[in-house]
Amino acid sequence: MIEDEKSLNFIEEIVEEDLRNGTHDGRVLTRFPPEPNGYLHIGHAKSICLNFGLAQKYNGTTNLRFDDTNPVTEDTEYVESIKKDIQWLGFQWAEELYTSDYFETLYQYAVKLIQHDLAYVDDSTAEEIAAAKGTPTEPGVPTPYRSRSIEENLTLFQEMRDGKYKDGEKVLRAKIDLANPNMHLRDPLLYRIKHVHHHRTGDKWCIYPMYDFAHGQSDSIEKITHSVCTLEFIPHRPLYDWLIEKLEIFPSHQYEFARLNMTYTVMSKRKLLQLVNEGHVESWDDPRMPTISAFRRRGYTPASIRNFCERIGVQKRENMIDFSLLEFCIREDLNKTAWRRMAILDPIKLIITNYPDGQIEELVGENNPEVEGGEGSRAIPFSKELWIEREDFMEEPPKKFFRLGPGLSVRLKHGYIVECHDFKKDDNGNVTEIYCTYAPDSKSGEDTSGLKVKGTIHWVSVAHAKKAEVRLYDRLFQVENPAAEEDFKASINPDSLHIIQNAYIEPDLADAEPGKGYQFIRMGYFTLDTKSTPEHLVFNRTVTLKDSWAKEVKKG
Ligand code: ATP
Ligand code: MG
Repeated sequence: MIEDEKSLNFIEEIVEEDLRNGTHDGRVLTRFPPEPNGYLHIGHAKSICLNFGLAQKYNGTTNLRFDDTNPVTEDTEYVESIKKDIQWLGFQWAEELYTSDYFETLYQYAVKLIQHDLAYVDDSTAEEIAAAKGTPTEPGVPTPYRSRSIEENLTLFQEMRDGKYKDGEKVLRAKIDLANPNMHLRDPLLYRIKHVHHHRTGDKWCIYPMYDFAHGQSDSIEKITHSVCTLEFIPHRPLYDWLIEKLEIFPSHQYEFARLNMTYTVMSKRKLLQLVNEGHVESWDDPRMPTISAFRRRGYTPASIRNFCERIGVQKRENMIDFSLLEFCIREDLNKTAWRRMAILDPIKLIITNYPDGQIEELVGENNPEVEGGEGSRAIPFSKELWIEREDFMEEPPKKFFRLGPGLSVRLKHGYIVECHDFKKDDNGNVTEIYCTYAPDSKSGEDTSGLKVKGTIHWVSVAHAKKAEVRLYDRLFQVENPAAEEDFKASINPDSLHIIQNAYIEPDLADAEPGKGYQFIRMGYFTLDTKSTPEHLVFNRTVTLKDSWAKEVKKG
């Protein structure tokens, strides 16, 4: 019933209306049509969740169609990454298809248009065509080639295919209306000559269809019922419909929704490629990138991204979504699922002077206190020398500092209450060691000491801790909308990555796996980096703990 209470988005309303009217016999078939010229980003996730989500909701299916009509920028590496990302998000396509598989059919469609005097071969240069097109307020004028005979056009188009002409020498154009207020209908280009190798069709073709002549026709070939795309294609829709009408093929229909824009990042593959190629980031899956593979490497879960897409909804008007909403979604998820561990990012040594030399205790900590049973527990070795966080000690603590300082007591998480009685400094005045005594009868869970403390701090045993590199990420850009800047790269945040070389972590984290979320208590959520090795452990911070917690720590 909860489903019913939630209001439908406008595309769901259209689908339900179609289902009521029996349009397409109650069939729902959507498609996700990426161009394999880069990795998918979080904007694509919105489109994936929408297209696959619609099909799931209305017992339909979704095709994955690689829109591979531009051989210059496309690559199979991208094809593989796109498939991996969609599956990771939790979706499975019905059919894996390629626009290039339709090249012959599309060619025949073009021939059909020529036969009906609805297309012609134009020898004008790109500049001449642009000049003759007019402006939105002035009608265009025909080029000298517009009146070619059907016979001549058929011959020339065949010769274009046969490789008789060089790039740019000729194009095929639809013959529609040079005075139409919609510039997309002023005899748009359908085919251009490109003598380049295609990642799937090799050297079979030297003419390639334009987006407008490939996309809608592919929808139609597959009998797509609802072809959903972003708002900038609204002016293309009349052409989409014109071609379907003139070719008398399956009447797919195009619907447009607002693309996702997010603060402090860029969302175009071309810009993302520049960041990679120019070394501003390490790779497409550098955890600061807005790509799906980067979010995965950083520790985001598929559920958090799906949930984010659900929350932002589907709009008819563009807006800017705050990056913090995505962070909210991952925190919400990891709070419920991440295993708790202790890790010290800025270590300082604490020595328990009254703890027996060489003694080791195995304390017990639940993996996940958010669920009943804690998802099991792990043993945490405890000994005389511990690493604690440097910021948890102050030489001259202010009032209400409920952590360590001379004469102050805290509880060591899962362990004992300790009281600081002394500390040591080096020649530069930096504190190097803290000396405490512990109350043997204050052990967590069996505390009979009667002692009361306000603060609990985390720690790891010096003799047992593993060393790790920990990477803390900040936003990649310093301005909210880098794409609006003259040079988006000028606003790159120089401090977007902070590397901690020598963190100390609980020993069992050596067995962590990439993608498994951990809450380093009080420090944030982390996951093992995909390039981590047993000899050199590397953890990525997925996201900080919630702000209220950060304030508490400061106060506390
Ligand atoms: P980019 O501008 O990043 O290169 P694109 O639109 O060229 O993106 P495609 O591979 O053609 O990328 O996109 C595949 C699908 O994803 C299209 O249907 C497109 O409308 C959709 N899409 C792309 N970017 C976004 C976005 N920011 N928000 C929602 N959908 C998007
Ligand atoms: Mg595109």
